Amino acid sequence: MRYEGAVYRPPSEAKSLIIQVTLGCSHNQCIFCVSYLDKKFRERELEDIYADIDEVASHYRGVERVFLADGDALVMKTDKLLKILEKLYNTFPQVERVGIYATPHDILEKDLEELTSLKEAGLTIVYLGVESGNEELLKWMRKGATRQEIIDAGKKARQAGLILSVTVINGIGGREKMADHAIDTATLLNEIDPEYLGLLTLMVPEGTTIARKIQKGEFEMPEPWEMLAEIEMMLEPLELSNCVFRCNHASNYLPLKGTLPQDKEKLLESLRSVLRTKDTRHLRPEYLRAL
Ligand code: SF4
Repeated sequence: MRYEGAVYRPPSEAKSLIIQVTLGCSHNQCIFCVSYLDKKFRERELEDIYADIDEVASHYRGVERVFLADGDALVMKTDKLLKILEKLYNTFPQVERVGIYATPHDILEKDLEELTSLKEAGLTIVYLGVESGNEELLKWMRKGATRQEIIDAGKKARQAGLILSVTVINGIGGREKMADHAIDTATLLNEIDPEYLGLLTLMVPEGTTIARKIQKGEFEMPEPWEMLAEIEMMLEPLELSNCVFRCNHASNYLPLKGTLPQDKEKLLESLRSVLRTKDTRHLRPEYLRAL
């Protein structure tokens, strides 16, 4: 199996076979992201992807889950993705789920029929980075999509029958735009109504534009308690029909998880009780936080 450069996948794909069908990210401009700065975006050739699949199959045919990397593999032409899905399902008879990362534009560029054909061919779950629902912040972080485009993309993926998993970045509004970020993100999520919602807490790796903004005094990182208060503000107006909520990533200060809407009050109460005491023993220490 040939991997090129660092390979990233969602936490829930930890047990999946990862196949790089594209390399890097076709957008590669978000100011907080270092994942693919060292890679020039390109699609891999089908014959190379097939060779990887055959190599894995020569050792093990019991693969149940596959994740198609890199950063926005859904940008690939639908015909090519359909061929990859066919090869996977023909090679591994037990495959039950195939996941993929997508940008909002990757979804919008495909018409509904294309997305539906991918779903019918076995594409199961799409991971979409929402990051924020605030228009100004989306522009500032160079997300490459407007609030409305993100809403349209999320709805379109769901309409095609794909499972939608979205991520939001706690703290991306800095101290100044905490409330705007929290409220606008909640209202955006209410419109999309995703099946999975993951909340990451902002970390600032060296070399990112956001790190330079902090050095220049243009962005102020919220304190851990402010990060938690922002989550409370975001959770309060959330009205999701059936969503697995995860805020237990290594970047988060306080691990939280539940299913919305039924666990909303319980989650809010956990946050409020920690915010009342401000006992730092409840928080993940800074040195244990990671991306
Ligand atoms: S779209 Fe995703 S992978 Fe690409 S630069 Fe933005 S955060 Fe990074």
